[in-house]
Amino acid sequence: MGISNLGEWKGIWAFAEQEEGCLAEVSLELLSVAQFLAKKRMAEVSVILLGYGVESLAEQLLAWGADRVFLAEHPTLEKYSTLPYARVTSNLITEIKPEFFLLPATSLGSDLAARVAARVNTGLSAHCTHLDINDKGELRQVVPAFGGKVMATILCPKHRPQMATVRPGVFRKGEPQKKRGMIERVPVEIRPEDLKQKVLEVHRGKGPARAIEEADVVVAGGAGIGNKDDWKWVERLAEVLNGAVGGTRPPLDEGWISEDQMIGQSGKTIRPKLYIGIGISGVIQHVVGIQDAQVIIAINHEPRAAIFQSADLGVIGDFRKIVPLVVDELEKSASSARVDRAILQP
Ligand SMILES: Cc1cc2nc3c(=O)[nH]c(=O)nc-3n(C[C@H](O)[C@H](O)[C@H](O)COP(=O)(O)OP(=O)(O)OC[C@H]3O[C@@H](n4cnc5c(N)ncnc54)[C@H](O)[C@@H]3O)c2cc1C
Repeated sequence: MGISNLGEWKGIWAFAEQEEGCLAEVSLELLSVAQFLAKKRMAEVSVILLGYGVESLAEQLLAWGADRVFLAEHPTLEKYSTLPYARVTSNLITEIKPEFFLLPATSLGSDLAARVAARVNTGLSAHCTHLDINDKGELRQVVPAFGGKVMATILCPKHRPQMATVRPGVFRKGEPQKKRGMIERVPVEIRPEDLKQKVLEVHRGKGPARAIEEADVVVAGGAGIGNKDDWKWVERLAEVLNGAVGGTRPPLDEGWISEDQMIGQSGKTIRPKLYIGIGISGVIQHVVGIQDAQVIIAINHEPRAAIFQSADLGVIGDFRKIVPLVVDELEKSASSARVDRAILQP
């Protein structure tokens, strides 16, 4: 059964993810898509920010154009923990009644979104790749389905808020803005039952040296690399090109890359100036993540590999023969450029 007072739910909310006092890039991407939706809906954009000692981040969000930041600060909220975060967020939703609520499709955002949607008794579309508004004013939430073969459009016509998680890198962040919104402090009520879990320590996996969603050059490897030892060629090519290392699902399964380096449907969407895919077949689940790259180069020894259909330049051959030559040439030209610069200097 749906709710009867749909018209009371107004405004567009985005959740600001932060860790140790730093805003996650995806928070600004969410703010930007919320602004796009707000223009169509003629609504205000509010951001909800939870933490402790994070007022400067609220100021940052205002500088990026949020009309309002709901700021909930409490020592318990310093580190993310599901129950206190869900309590504060769902209380605020019940009180203020936003029409749309967007969260990042990160580990934190996905965990929180599911819990909050259940508490406020609404639906949730996970891992959206596109959002828009239909002529009834409903949120159109587009999600790849059936392994990426179908793009499903999901509506939530009878419940509010309409909730969606959005994958990092799918939307671009906007621009800083001159207008200034306001910070509204939110009273934090934590109950004893919210403290069943306690975060004792945070252990971080070794992340990539450079984030793939921010790099101009991304060198990605696939199952065709074959073993950990040969993976060094992916890394060396990335290094000489001053790029970041990414990959497909099999290298993640093998432990050659971390989760934040996987590109594709359930990984990240990237927009580099140059993407080089080595030993990658080019199935849709990977290719959806590289479609916005300016130039795509593929190296594969199988001429019929699907990746060549997406590539601007295809190199057919064994990467073990090709990549070491390319690395060697690039290293030579980089060192001769250094010598030239040294000679030119007075
Ligand atoms: C719901 C769902 C979500 C998924 N999400 C993702 C996702 O986000 N990202 C993702 O990447 N995958 C995802 N996958 C997995 C995806 O379907 C593929 O299994 C995966 O992308 C294949 O990776 P690959 O191209 O590295 O491996 P393969 O398909 O095995 O291709 C290896 C390629 O290497 C080539 N090769 C082999 N040896 C050499 C050599 N010596 N030199 C040159 N070329 C060589 C081969 O010709 C082959 O084309 C998902 C799957 C499902 C079902």
